[in-house]
Amino acid sequence: MSSNPLAASYSPIPQLDLAAQYAAVGGEVREAIERVLSSQQFILGREGAALEEEIARLCGVAHGVGVGSGTDALVLALRSCGVAAGDEVILPPFTFVATGSAVSALGAKPVFADIHPNTYNIDPAQIARRVTPRTRAIVVVHLYGLAADMDPIMEFAHEKNLPVVEDSAQAIGAGYKGRRTGSLGDVACFSFYPTKNLGACGDAGMIVTNSAERAARLRILRNHGQKEKYVSLEPGWNGRLDEIQAAILRVKLRYLAEWQRARQAHAAEYTREFSQIPGIMPPLVPEGYDHVFHQYTIRVEERDRLQHVLTAKKIGSAVYYPVPLHLQPLYASLGCKAGDFPHAEHAAQEVLSLPMYPELRPAQLARVAEAITEFVRH
Ligand SMILES: *Cc1c(COP(=O)(O)O)cnc(C)c1O
Repeated sequence: MSSNPLAASYSPIPQLDLAAQYAAVGGEVREAIERVLSSQQFILGREGAALEEEIARLCGVAHGVGVGSGTDALVLALRSCGVAAGDEVILPPFTFVATGSAVSALGAKPVFADIHPNTYNIDPAQIARRVTPRTRAIVVVHLYGLAADMDPIMEFAHEKNLPVVEDSAQAIGAGYKGRRTGSLGDVACFSFYPTKNLGACGDAGMIVTNSAERAARLRILRNHGQKEKYVSLEPGWNGRLDEIQAAILRVKLRYLAEWQRARQAHAAEYTREFSQIPGIMPPLVPEGYDHVFHQYTIRVEERDRLQHVLTAKKIGSAVYYPVPLHLQPLYASLGCKAGDFPHAEHAAQEVLSLPMYPELRPAQLARVAEAITEFVRH
C-alpha cells in the first residue's frame, strides 16, 4: 500500500476482490486442505456431512445435501419435484442463465414470469398468469441477496399443489419476515462458486429441505441413483460435493455473519450517498427483509455511459444481467420477443453493480460514490 495519497487515489478498485479475503483466512484454509489430505477421504466424508448440518442449521431447516455446484443443486432439486421432459417450470427471466438451463437439462420448458421493477425478483402476481395444466414447479430466485416475496407465492403454490424451488445461490443467510432463505420454499439451492457470498476454491453447492423423504431421494440422485453401493434404483448423476471444498467452506462459514454485516454497512453507506443524487436508484430493501448484498446494484438511465466513466477511473462495475433469459439465443425456439417481459428488459438496460465485498475500505467506497456523484452533476 502506497503512503502517497495521490497514488492511492488512482489505484484500481475492483468490483470484487477475492485476494483481500484470502489474505485474511488463507492460513486456516490451507490447514483445512491439509486436514483432508491427511485423511485421504475425498468424497462423501466427514467434512461434507458436517457442512450439510451447518448449512441446514444456518437456514433453519432439517436437512442439507451437498452437491457439486449450484447448477447440480437446481437440476437435482427440480428432479426431486418430479420435473421431467415435457413439463413446464415457471421462473423469472432476469437471472443467471443456470436457473433456466437446469430446467432445460431435464427436457422441461422454462415459462417466464416477469419481475417486480423495484426488487428485481419474480412478481407473485405474474406467476398466476403463467400457470397451465403442464406446470410442474415454480423456481424463485433471490436476486442480488434479497429474498423474493415468498408469502403470496407459497400461498398460491399450495392452492395449486405446485412445489417451489428457491434459487438462493446469491442469498445465503438473507432474511424474510424473520425466516431465512432456504427455509421459505419446499426445497432450496445454494451455490458456493468462488464469487458467491460463501465461496469455495472451486465448484460446490448444497440443497436444503425440511423433508426427510426428499433429502433421502436427493442423496440417491446425486450419487448415480444408488442407495447402497453398486445397486442403482434410478438414473442418477455424479453430483457430489468433495471434501476439500467442504472443509474450506466450513472455515469460511465461521466468518459469514461478520462478512454479511460488513456488506450491509457498505450498502448503507452507498445508499446514504445516493439518496441525495437524482437519477440514481439504490437497491430497495422492503420492511422485514434482511438483504445480504451479494451485489449492490443501482439503477441509472445512462448505465453504459456511467460504466465507461467508472472504467476510465479504474473503478470496477458489472452488469448482472445484460440479456434476460427470454431473449437469449439459447431460448430462441421458445419464440419470445422484445417487449414480452418489459420489467426484466428495462432492468437489463439500467442495472449496474458497484464494488462490493466485505473488505472494501471506506476510502474506496467514497471514491466510487464521488465518481458517480460527479457523473450525475455533469
Ligand atoms: C451462481 C448461480 C447459479 C449457478 O451456480 P453454479 O455453482 O455456478 O453452478 C444459479 N443461479 C444463480 C442465481 C446464480 O447466481
